[in-house]
Amino acid sequence: QELIKKLEETIENFPDFPIPGIQFKDISPVFLDPKLYEDVIADLVAFSKGKVDAVCGIESRGYLFGIAIAVALEVPFILIRKKGKLPPPIVSEKYDLEYGSAEIETREGQIKKGQRILIHDDLLATGGTTEAVARLVEKQGATVSQFSFLIGLKDLNGEEKLKPFNAEVYHILEY
Ligand code: IMP
Repeated sequence: QELIKKLEETIENFPDFPIPGIQFKDISPVFLDPKLYEDVIADLVAFSKGKVDAVCGIESRGYLFGIAIAVALEVPFILIRKKGKLPPPIVSEKYDLEYGSAEIETREGQIKKGQRILIHDDLLATGGTTEAVARLVEKQGATVSQFSFLIGLKDLNGEEKLKPFNAEVYHILEY
């Protein structure tokens, strides 16, 4: 389809950045093309229309599209941040990285009980980050209804980690 082709031409791949073995996808050229950005948002909005009560965006590239999706859907947008950036009271969730662990946080009370949540990020790699966000959402008594990404990296099997949440998963592109 037209959008997929345009995105493939626009997103740049950098082998071995920032460390050997990583195929880094740089999405910054998307923002040089307002029409393409609009088309990306329209596509992601069509996936979620009528199906969610709030959008959780993952720091930081998840904000670039997530907030526009939420505004178009006329639902709240909730920032999921890295540790130490938000004032209390907060709720947090730890997760394992390849080496060590990390923690994500959100303001307490912004995710509400019973809400159907879309979790959005620019890219799904191993799924570790997204899975932690999903646990955080459920801990607040809300339901993860959907996950959306611009890009899914097939070989890393991130979707396996998201299966337990029984939510719809969508990405515009897959590598
Ligand atoms: P995961 O937890 O392994 O799924 O990693 C996903 C997170 O890492 C997302 O927030 C992405 O923005 C970031 N990420 C991982 N790999 C890449 C990449 O190749 N390009 C851009 N971002 C990446």
